Amino acid sequence: MTERDEDYYGDQCARCGSSADAVWCDNCDRDGMSHHDCGEDVCCCLYPEDNVPCDWCDGRGWFGVCLSTPEFCEANPLPGRENVKRGTTEPVYVKRGVG
Ligand SMILES: [Zn+2]
Ligand SMILES: [Zn+2]
Ligand SMILES: [Zn+2]
Repeated sequence: MTERDEDYYGDQCARCGSSADAVWCDNCDRDGMSHHDCGEDVCCCLYPEDNVPCDWCDGRGWFGVCLSTPEFCEANPLPGRENVKRGTTEPVYVKRGVG
């Protein structure tokens, strides 16, 4: 009997499969919200909280960054990933080594 036994390994570029890193987003100060918008022309909220998702990072607060050069990333997409934008990352899981 075996269990699913995988460890989170890191992120990889969803386009070319290279290792990827994450950098915090400056636009929203890492919280994923860029500014306050309550629908009023003149905001009179007592405590205006940021409630508009940051469009730089899609509200995540960070960017995925492909560690390969832009040229490599553009020229070497994984099969079926030709339309994936550089900067899209995905988590990678690896099987835990036995013994
Ligand atoms: Zn952001
Ligand atoms: Zn407001
Ligand atoms: Zn890439």
